[in-house]
Amino acid sequence: MKIILLGAPGAGKGTQAAKLKEYYNIPHISTGDAFRSNISQGTEIGLYAKSFMDKGLLVPDEVVIKIVESRLKEADCKDGFLLDGFPRTIPQAEALDALIPVDCVVNIDADHEKIVKRLTGRRSCKCGEVYHISTYSAANCAKCGGELYTRDDDKEETIRKRLSAFVEQTAPLVEYYGKQGKVVNVNGNQSPDSVFAEVVNKLQS
Ligand SMILES: [Zn+2]
Repeated sequence: MKIILLGAPGAGKGTQAAKLKEYYNIPHISTGDAFRSNISQGTEIGLYAKSFMDKGLLVPDEVVIKIVESRLKEADCKDGFLLDGFPRTIPQAEALDALIPVDCVVNIDADHEKIVKRLTGRRSCKCGEVYHISTYSAANCAKCGGELYTRDDDKEETIRKRLSAFVEQTAPLVEYYGKQGKVVNVNGNQSPDSVFAEVVNKLQS
């Protein structure tokens, strides 16, 4: 099974990726991991990508494509894979189609207001503990007594920005793969187990 996984930040994509990987016995290919491994191994393409990242620039499509391509050619991908974080653009999707067309695009569709509510309720401690105000209302950490705070990543403004960037980026991809009849929409407003059951059920039909 060759799958692309799409889902807004906070929609539980990581959990579903882990379950899909195990269920179908396919590697979970995250673009971030592929980049890090190329950079740490000092490959030519990795160092080239790093030169953009070091300047805070977006890595060009052709570089991203090359990195993913070399990963997909590894032996563990021959029976399928789960792509996470790629493709992000139409040129990337077209390059992937030319290389190895996927079977389906799983789109975890979760209510953005619920995501905002859940993520903005997180409170962190310097020691690494993370709480949620729905289950823990104290101002200090139960473990070390440190004062809890809201990370910048968990602030409403940041979350809303990330969500709208996601929609902007994903809508053209959903349209692109929709035309190929490959998009599988899944209701992300359920428990992780129910989301997964729906994914498997839809992929089998
Ligand atoms: Zn603490």
